[in-house]
Amino acid sequence: MIVAFLGLGNMGGPMAANLVAKGFQVHGYDPAPGAGHDRVRRMSSAAEAVREADAVVTMLPSGTHVLDCYREILPALRPGTLLVDSSTIDVEDARAAAGLVEAEGHLAVDAPVSGGVVGATEGTLTFMAGGSARALDLAEPILLAMGARVVRCGGAGAGQAAKICNNMVLGVSMIAVSEAFALGRALGLTDQALFDVAATSSAQCWALTVNCPVPGPVPTSPANRGYTGGFASGLMLKDLGLAEAAARAAGVDTAFGRAAREAYARFVEVDGPGRDFSAIITTLRKDDA
Ligand code: NAD
Repeated sequence: MIVAFLGLGNMGGPMAANLVAKGFQVHGYDPAPGAGHDRVRRMSSAAEAVREADAVVTMLPSGTHVLDCYREILPALRPGTLLVDSSTIDVEDARAAAGLVEAEGHLAVDAPVSGGVVGATEGTLTFMAGGSARALDLAEPILLAMGARVVRCGGAGAGQAAKICNNMVLGVSMIAVSEAFALGRALGLTDQALFDVAATSSAQCWALTVNCPVPGPVPTSPANRGYTGGFASGLMLKDLGLAEAAARAAGVDTAFGRAAREAYARFVEVDGPGRDFSAIITTLRKDDA
């Protein structure tokens, strides 16, 4: 089976390499000269990459990139091609992309991921997938070659909807955990004491028990290495922006999600987009910087 892989950046590069490792023939394309992976065959254009493909996977920065790319490649596709978009994009853009694809008789799946660059490299990503049952059946073996789990979320756009709802909870909970560590310290608690209680009580959550924003209690969390690696604050800001846009369009008041987006916008302006999103605690406890 030939899979065209468009967007060979931090995520797409290792994902495409895992497809090759699992026996797929991969035709890759990325306009950036440095992008890619030495195991993936690079083609000279997106149209060239998709020409013989049975399926196309995209891993691009935004919904605009995905829609522009789809418009470019649609005329070059073989009949009945499967298009899987794993980028994180707006729900409305995902539905528009599926509409473009299905209008030409092809099959569309939106399948954003959780797991980051480590999950992409190790092939342990979780995919949140939206599309028709037939498209999802065809996409599943491709997705499982790049990840450990596929959760079927519903029709077109449902994967993106699940992703942004999940990440809105994550952004809000990281700020809540950070505030608790700031308040705990001011009240004379050690970080370890607060962790020992909260991690086994009703405050338990991923932001605390896996990605703990203070160094010490969870030795593998980015806080122990100057907040390097992990999930970049700039990407958290992007996802909170997508959640806010979707909430506005759906008429739902997500006040805490909005407050989290504003907090990350202020943080990224000062700290830059590159450090793990748990570094937001440094705005509350200056000495953790
Ligand atoms: P990246 O910037 O490293 O990679 C994107 C790549 O797409 C770039 O190399 C760019 O040159 C390429 N590109 C742009 N237009 C193209 C086109 N028309 N055809 C082919 N390639 C094109 O970004 P990334 O970190 O790999 O993220 C990709 C997507 O995955 C984003 O939507 C992001 O939100 C999402 N995501 C990222 C992470 C993460 O930890 N990095 C985690 C989950 C989801």
